Amino acid sequence: MATVIAIDGPAGAGKSTIAKLVAKELNAIYIDTGAMYRAMALYLLRNHIDIEDEKALTECVASADISIRFVDGEQQVWLNGENVNGLIRTEEVSSMASVSSAKGVVRVKLVDLQRKLAEDHDVVMDGRDIGTHVLPNAKPKIFLTASSKVRAKRRYDELTARGEVCDLDTIEKDIIERDERDKNREISPLRQAEDAILVDTSDMTIDQVKEKIISLI
Ligand code: C5P
Repeated sequence: MATVIAIDGPAGAGKSTIAKLVAKELNAIYIDTGAMYRAMALYLLRNHIDIEDEKALTECVASADISIRFVDGEQQVWLNGENVNGLIRTEEVSSMASVSSAKGVVRVKLVDLQRKLAEDHDVVMDGRDIGTHVLPNAKPKIFLTASSKVRAKRRYDELTARGEVCDLDTIEKDIIERDERDKNREISPLRQAEDAILVDTSDMTIDQVKEKIISLI
């Protein structure tokens, strides 16, 4: 039977770190759906699209060819023939992805791609709506969360380790804002699926979270 595991949760809950480890353990492929929303956001920015202009948005989304390839087991996102993996983690792209991911045309296109990937591979997929919408038959479904303070501190440590100058309070404010947008949008809002297992990682180490999830499989 195919392995299909869904890991959803708010920004900075550790979804990608955990999903990667679990995928490795299970010999499955890790799919980071946020990266796809980011690649689409990059494309919208490059084309200077006003995302409230429905016609322009629809045309632009239709001309975006987003695909996923795996290099040494790592997911790489391609946009119209270009590997954009190194370009999608900027603040500008994060902000645009948070807003443009609420748009139906964007979601329909990317959900379709996500479902196709899960048809062909054993997957651990992370995002916001994987258990509720993209892969409703995933088992188990995990809803990974942590307090906004803890999530902000993790992001702060990650950025400062990379030598970036940042402010903890600003990061927390930004995380809360993005969560609110994800939770309150009309289409596929961020919420825990009824059959998902809640894992609060605030006081857990990465290894503990991994073990907990493996134990649920
Ligand atoms: O997970 P990550 O922060 O990289 O995702 C970027 C943005 O894409 C998020 O802010 C969220 O709004 C959106 N997203 C989404 N649905 C998903 C994955 C990400 O709406 N399945």
